[in-house]
Amino acid sequence: MTSPVERAREARRDVRPQLLRWFDRSKRDLPWRKSNAPYGVWVSEVMLQQTQVERVVRYWTKFLERFPTVKSLAAAELKDVLGLWTGLGYYSRARNLHLASKELVLRFGGELPDSVDALLTLPGFGRYTAGAVASIAFELEAPLVDGNVARVLSRLLELDGVPGEKAREAALWAAAEVMVEGARPGDWNQALMELGATVCVPQNPLCLVCPVRTSCRALAAGRVDELPRPKKPPKRKRLEFAVAVAKRGHEVLLARREEKGLFGGLWELPGVELAEGADGDAALQKFLGKKASIGPELTVVERTLTHRDLVLRLHAISLPKRLAKPPAGYLEWRWVPREEIGGLGMSSAMQGALAEAG
Ligand code: SF4
Repeated sequence: MTSPVERAREARRDVRPQLLRWFDRSKRDLPWRKSNAPYGVWVSEVMLQQTQVERVVRYWTKFLERFPTVKSLAAAELKDVLGLWTGLGYYSRARNLHLASKELVLRFGGELPDSVDALLTLPGFGRYTAGAVASIAFELEAPLVDGNVARVLSRLLELDGVPGEKAREAALWAAAEVMVEGARPGDWNQALMELGATVCVPQNPLCLVCPVRTSCRALAAGRVDELPRPKKPPKRKRLEFAVAVAKRGHEVLLARREEKGLFGGLWELPGVELAEGADGDAALQKFLGKKASIGPELTVVERTLTHRDLVLRLHAISLPKRLAKPPAGYLEWRWVPREEIGGLGMSSAMQGALAEAG
């Protein structure tokens, strides 16, 4: 039985030219590919984690218009960055992008460094992002493995193992490292990802038109449908909040979360997490203080996040006009005119809750 590295070495000679020729012919026209400038590549790679490419194109263009350089991003306020991110989800990506831009200004003169080791010292940079920026923007032979690459390599090299297992991840990275060696490492990495996104797709891959089908071990062995093996489903957590809906004329009371944890730095209807079986009225009274008058539960909004089931119990609340300091867990709170809400960074779950609150 040959090792993953040996298989990668064997495949490289034929697969590299086949796949690069196909990439030159078939690659999608994406705005950050026009120049491969480091900053644009970095922003695109961060956005592409967890988000479909069609959505990313819209957000990337707006983001680059508003923050065209690392320095302009570093000088921005986090709430403006989060405001532009609204609807993309996974807001820690935006917080890290902003934090990293500040470090880039402090430590690297506002430029992205051209080494994997230096990139890995920045907030939000894991092996994937560092490999992507290093190879695409700086043409370094740096490997990367994302979901698409993992699927393509699993099939092409017939690699077994359950996704998430350390031995399989190590084998994939070792194989990717061998295969990225050579000319055009950035195009090579993008070609692998592109093949996974458009041809070697999870269900019913298009093997008949695949540019590397003559080298594909899973195809030759009749194992395409078995590889990669299915992921173990993640454990889901239920998160329940009692949420305050307070209105004043055409204004709504909104609060901005502390800049850490789930929904950190985002605006929302203020709320408090409920322990299992806890009473929402009592929890809100304690959370908002004696001067708040807690009304009945208006409605319950449920949302499914990646690893969590979110339950928001909305209560009508009256508060004195002059607000005291914000409750625990929030940086600020204020009455916001409805027409201004769209410009604030807010999760989709909370946008849904606001729509339900009327
Ligand atoms: Fe994927 Fe099929 Fe191409 Fe193999 S031949 S790499 S399974 S699309």
